Amino acid sequence: MIEKYYPDFYYDSIRHIDLDMLKNKGIKGLLLDIDNTLVPMHSKDADENASGWISELKSRGFKVCILSNATEKRVVRFNKDIAVTAIHRAYKPSGKAFLKAAETLGLEPENIAVVGDQIFTDIHGGNKANMLTILVKPIDKKEILFVRLKRWPEKLILSGFMKKLEHQLKRRELWKRNRLAMEKARYTGYKK
Ligand SMILES: [Mg+2]
Repeated sequence: MIEKYYPDFYYDSIRHIDLDMLKNKGIKGLLLDIDNTLVPMHSKDADENASGWISELKSRGFKVCILSNATEKRVVRFNKDIAVTAIHRAYKPSGKAFLKAAETLGLEPENIAVVGDQIFTDIHGGNKANMLTILVKPIDKKEILFVRLKRWPEKLILSGFMKKLEHQLKRRELWKRNRLAMEKARYTGYKK
């Protein structure tokens, strides 16, 4: 089923994520990918954008864990100033690290959102672990070949996902129009 690759939400960047909506959905913790989600692929340190956003998450009471497939060296250096829980060499999409992260945060998977830029690692893994999944557009367009190769099938999946969204929106629109018509009928005293 292609749905296992569909994110629950798709945003332009981390800054566009609706944190109030996450709160309303019962999300208490976030698992964050580093490369091309928080910072461009080759940035060793967290920049103001990433650390500012993570501070905002903390101040709103969210628990935060970095979940990265990168090496220990990379993750430790990136996390130096942010100082959140961090798991390196996570082997996403393997479910193990996602569940380990949930345990470390002391949260149930359904109260956790995964944020990442890759469908086959971040989103697939998060869906498997029964977490809410949020896809963001990759920050940097210059990617290593291995990642670039995965972008083609990702595009196909995303176009399917967008079609599904469109379909849902149309149905909602139709439902709204029907309801309006019914209300109008009731108001004018029209009976079928
Ligand atoms: Mg990434």
